[in-house]
Amino acid sequence: GLSCGIVGLPNVGKSTLFNALTASAVPVANYPFCTIDPHSGIVPVPDPRLARLSAMYSTRKTVPATVEFVDIAGLVKGASQGEGLGNQFLGHIRSVDLVVHVLRGFDDGEITHVHGEVNPVSDLEVIETELLLADLSSLSGRVQKLEKQWKTATKEAEVQRPAFLAILSGLEAGKPGRAISTDPLANSFRKGLGLLTDKPALYVANVAETELRAPSERVRSLEKAIAGRGGVLIPICAKWEAEIAELPEEERATFLQELGLDRSGLDRLVTEGYRSLGLVTFLTAGEVEVRAWPVPQGTTAPKAAAEIHSDIERGFIRAEVMRYEDLDRLGSEKAVKEKGLLRLEGKEYIIQDGDVVYFRFNV
Ligand code: GDP
Repeated sequence: GLSCGIVGLPNVGKSTLFNALTASAVPVANYPFCTIDPHSGIVPVPDPRLARLSAMYSTRKTVPATVEFVDIAGLVKGASQGEGLGNQFLGHIRSVDLVVHVLRGFDDGEITHVHGEVNPVSDLEVIETELLLADLSSLSGRVQKLEKQWKTATKEAEVQRPAFLAILSGLEAGKPGRAISTDPLANSFRKGLGLLTDKPALYVANVAETELRAPSERVRSLEKAIAGRGGVLIPICAKWEAEIAELPEEERATFLQELGLDRSGLDRLVTEGYRSLGLVTFLTAGEVEVRAWPVPQGTTAPKAAAEIHSDIERGFIRAEVMRYEDLDRLGSEKAVKEKGLLRLEGKEYIIQDGDVVYFRFNV
């Protein structure tokens, strides 16, 4: 599965946020939850469609899509030069698919800020600089080694050289990899570089609970800085989320309602994370099980079938597809079929978010 790495300076609330995320994933009924190690947890993706379908099909088992969150501690100024956990820390970031920046917006005289002052914009710049320096160092090393190979004019060199040099000069100008475009032909080479700043990023402002609906000047500046990067900022009060996460599920909703919030910041974080990972959900529904399956955008029907079982991909005949909205509106599979809204799709069909699918296949 795909994973989100929680990154930030010390004492910004990363562990608090991570604990809240994983506490909310404690095995409720059939939710598959496991901890791979203390710093990594599988978190269910909130999806109101599952409850609706489960009621409609009188299902006994409901299985949500999940994403992995990893708490990556140890970033300090100078990490790219080996300060703190340095290289180890950067290696952990290399292995995740999405970087979640946690930025401290809360004041608390008891909790030291590593740079003596709460300033999330400058904190973000410190982190971004470390990631950028790490990429610069790994890419310039790579380019140096490749220069010799590139002297021989090959197809590969023709694609690689201009792309790598463009990225290098972009990084030198202070741009993160994701803001530097290169020829799509170079994409596979580029992936192989494992650049930290090529990864998609999400931003969390860890604020006091009073600031959730009335952001401070500080958080507004941060919002502006992140909008300038084309990013999404999610305000969260980690301490408070950790408390809500301890409540039984039914009480959680009531508690949020009383505060005038429609959902927790954590829900929003997991949902945005899922989206930023480029995943869409198709659903399967029956009496035995209602289940959400994550697949990358652009996945064909047979590849989606392979998520369920490789036999279904191998023997793929066709996919019977209903739209979730049709089921929701008409109330049953029978009604959807009577309206002629069940479609038969072949091998080329691209799975869409909210497709409710039944695969026909040869055994
Ligand atoms: P990390 O070093 O980034 O993992 O930070 P921690 O999650 O360990 O948090 C550092 C300290 O800040 C702990 O004492 C937390 O209880 C506290 N903390 C975390 N989030 C908040 C918050 O939203 N408000 C306040 N006042 N304290 C917080």
